Amino acid sequence: MQPSKSDKSGDRIRLVGVPRERADSHWRRYAEDLGVIATVDTLARPLRELRISVTDRCNFRCSYCMPKEIFGGDFVFMPRDELLTFEEIARVARLFAEQGVKKLRLTGGEPLLRRDLERLIEMLAGTDGIADIALTTNGAALAGKAQALKHAGLTRVSVSLDALDDEVFGAMNDVGFPVRRVLEGIDAAAHVGLLPVKVNMVVKRGVNDHCILAMAEYFRERPAILRLIEFMDVGTTNRWKPDEVVPAAEIHRMIDARWPLEPLAASHPGEVASRYRYRDGGGQIGLIASVTKPFCGSCTRARLSADGKLHTCLFATSGHDLRALLRGGASDQEITRQLRSIWTSRADRYSETRTALSTDQPKVEMSYIGG
Ligand code: SAM
Ligand code: SF4
Ligand code: SF4
Repeated sequence: MQPSKSDKSGDRIRLVGVPRERADSHWRRYAEDLGVIATVDTLARPLRELRISVTDRCNFRCSYCMPKEIFGGDFVFMPRDELLTFEEIARVARLFAEQGVKKLRLTGGEPLLRRDLERLIEMLAGTDGIADIALTTNGAALAGKAQALKHAGLTRVSVSLDALDDEVFGAMNDVGFPVRRVLEGIDAAAHVGLLPVKVNMVVKRGVNDHCILAMAEYFRERPAILRLIEFMDVGTTNRWKPDEVVPAAEIHRMIDARWPLEPLAASHPGEVASRYRYRDGGGQIGLIASVTKPFCGSCTRARLSADGKLHTCLFATSGHDLRALLRGGASDQEITRQLRSIWTSRADRYSETRTALSTDQPKVEMSYIGG
């Protein structure tokens, strides 16, 4: 259908793109509470977050993301002139913010490899409507950059770390990168006030599931929240197999048996992690059950690849070319019309409909689309 004109008249909020009676009351209330115009998709999910990949390159070769045999010395990454410039990214972010996006997350590839990232953060921090600018990083360069990132306007950071054991971690990042330097990055982020630091651990059966309790123990009592993530079938190169997934329920049982847990309410609609607190007061953890308990129903994220393709799902097979619009002289109104048209026709719910067949279908790589 033709998107209805969005406006805020008095206290009444109109959802763009779906008849009001089809808009889920939960999201409608959320939009009304926030007092925002919400552009919603065909499943009544508003557009709340934009993940921006700033590079497809990385200094790690995590086997579940950029396996060395594919992303080796002869792999061709994006040429520099194909990457969106900071000015182009900032313009897109502003137009998304006008459609209700409140949160930006910078990712990649490894975002800290993009030169002068602080300058981009400074530009984004000045965007009307953006309340939160987060970063997902492998932490390799974080210790030296945390202060400058905070100063530029970064609000939060998620650091990936799959084990505390150097042998296990070095094999998983496949470049032998030491745990100590990632921990220094986490400490530096906490020290400058990028709090709470979230620590993402992808759990693969038989690879690092024996490291879960040591990770939980280390991050208890520290200003960091450990989040345990089920290994996902993103892309086509990581040779995902269902039996390598350790279900979040199993991870929960393991940790709960050692340090009893109790569930916490979601801190906001659309939160991907189920949160738990340690009953003894040792902090909290998050479980991300993307495979066994998908959360497509509350997925409010769009993803912009480093070359300006907009994807409406992590498991997309292709994206919409915003760079062509940006470089082709399109006006803000034209780009906005395109954004709305893309979001209002969105019907993605891959994880809820995953089958043995769909896991083998062509999908864009996570290092390209941005995790
Ligand atoms: N390089 C940065 C990092 O590793 O944090 C940012 C990009 S990375 C693609 C974003 C997140 O995706 C990381 O936390 C990573 O562990 C996660 N990830 C990558 N491949 C995954 C997979 N197959 N299943 C689950 N999570 C994955
Ligand atoms: Fe690099 Fe992050 Fe992918 Fe690991 S998960 S290979 S650090 S982009
Ligand atoms: Fe969102 Fe797609 Fe993941 Fe579902 S599968 S939660 S729609 S990114």
